[in-house]
Amino acid sequence: MIPEESKKKYVERPFNCPFCDSEKMKGDEPEITDFIVYRKVECVDCGKVWEERFDLVGIEEVDQE
Ligand SMILES: [Zn+2]
Repeated sequence: MIPEESKKKYVERPFNCPFCDSEKMKGDEPEITDFIVYRKVECVDCGKVWEERFDLVGIEEVDQE
């Protein structure tokens, strides 16, 4: 279980392990399932694994040549 406080901190500044504060983390390639994008991240120091979840936040038109 990750405390809500730690989750909030991680979302604002995702550079430290939410369990031990280590900066040594390695993440998988993001996976996309319909509208859910997620990525597994592992802490090299404490060995904990968690999932980062990404939301669709908007769209922009792309200029085509
Ligand atoms: Zn850790």
